[in-house]
Amino acid sequence: MSKRSDEVRTRVLVVEDEESFIDALTVGLTREGFDVTIARDGAEALAQFAPRRYDVVLLDLMLPKVSGLDVCRSIRGASDVPIIIVSAKGEEVDMVLMLELGADDYVTKPYRLRELVARIRAVVRRRESHDDVEADEETIERGPITMDVEARRCFISGDEIKLRKKEFALLRLLLENPGRVLTREVLIDRVWGSDYVGDTKTLDVHIKRLRGLVEDDPKNPEYITTVRGVGYRFESPKRDA
Ligand code: CA
Repeated sequence: MSKRSDEVRTRVLVVEDEESFIDALTVGLTREGFDVTIARDGAEALAQFAPRRYDVVLLDLMLPKVSGLDVCRSIRGASDVPIIIVSAKGEEVDMVLMLELGADDYVTKPYRLRELVARIRAVVRRRESHDDVEADEETIERGPITMDVEARRCFISGDEIKLRKKEFALLRLLLENPGRVLTREVLIDRVWGSDYVGDTKTLDVHIKRLRGLVEDDPKNPEYITTVRGVGYRFESPKRDA
């Protein structure tokens, strides 16, 4: 992996109170080319944070002084910076609530640095591409999938697939939010409408059909992944070097 020295480094605010994690993250993320700032509790995080000062916030939930939940709410009130929630295994976390509060993604401790780095890059990339093309994208390209929004056509590695109206809308929503967890509520609301009163299994049936079309191995999805108890996520395809 080559790093140009003139490259603009992604600035990460790491909100974390456990020393062992602080050390590992500082070393690991710096080595990956990130510019790391540490806040050791919720109050420090809020004092450190200012709009446009950071490209991404990595936010531990269990924090001294001000809880991660309140930090998330405050930051989101002031900025649309990507926020990745970090929770400990076994911790009771209402992830649906966190996502409603505006968190973009989350990881559970213990996590692997590689996975964390991939998640950070995905939310940052997503935000950048949003900034670039705020207007309606006519063509969305993610991995092998190409979607021509206006013509309502979709291609996998160049071969056209036929999608029904709701399938198209669902896949489009997922493609427009790579790397982001979309809750079942959001997906149903956006694709079927807030007054939808049908069976929520409908969503899973549609996801199953999309996987059948998009995935090499639908039982082991690589692109449309399940976030248990929460919803689904379109995995941001890695940029091949
Ligand atoms: Ca903690």
